[in-house]
Amino acid sequence: MPGDAERKRAELEERLKFFRDIGADFIFKPEPKAPVAAASLRVPAGMDLGMIRDQVLACRKCRLAAGRTQAVPGEGNPAAELMFVGEGPGRDEDLQGRPFVGRAGQLLTKIIEAMKFERSQVFIANIVKCRPPENRVPQRDEIDFCTPFLAAQIAAIRPKVLVTLGKVATDFFVPHAFGGMTSIRGRFYDWNGIPVMPTFHPSYLIRNEGNREIKKMVWDDMKQVLARLGRT
Ligand code: URA
Repeated sequence: MPGDAERKRAELEERLKFFRDIGADFIFKPEPKAPVAAASLRVPAGMDLGMIRDQVLACRKCRLAAGRTQAVPGEGNPAAELMFVGEGPGRDEDLQGRPFVGRAGQLLTKIIEAMKFERSQVFIANIVKCRPPENRVPQRDEIDFCTPFLAAQIAAIRPKVLVTLGKVATDFFVPHAFGGMTSIRGRFYDWNGIPVMPTFHPSYLIRNEGNREIKKMVWDDMKQVLARLGRT
């Protein structure tokens, strides 16, 4: 049985969705603009993805470095038109030094393939590059230390569309959006001129296995991404 708070939240999200569906956008807070200054999207002179990777691997700026087996810089096509951003490495990723290789990663790979991309054609990265202990949510200062790497990666790749997976990744790109993922997802936001589509994290899909509604929402989001890429 859902608790009172959960029920109220679901009702509120339902109402917000209604307002959004009828185009009454004025009830939302103003769309956020550039949480990271546009200037920081410039790749520092002479810096390419390989150099950013080396810096991530050597980074000891925050407490997460102490607990990692390996940092997980991200991987994929340096000229990817589509980029996925998750929260942070889990156990499998920490052991292998690669993003999204555990159960959630297998599901993400399926989603990418259902979109008729190979995994190697897109770029996959995370908000934090080292595994938080016990997979806890990354803390504010850890995110602040780590996201300049992500911004530099995005600046180097210049994807045509970014997909954020779950609330932590979405909060970085769309910090003032109101409500949970159910109300935020399903539309594009602007981040330094790059369209961002928030959707549910694959782990959430796994936790709600059998919920066809959530699956459908993710697929609807990906169809919008494909349309934006001219791949319908
Ligand atoms: N979850 C994430 O957010 N990122 C990964 O790399 C793996 C699981």
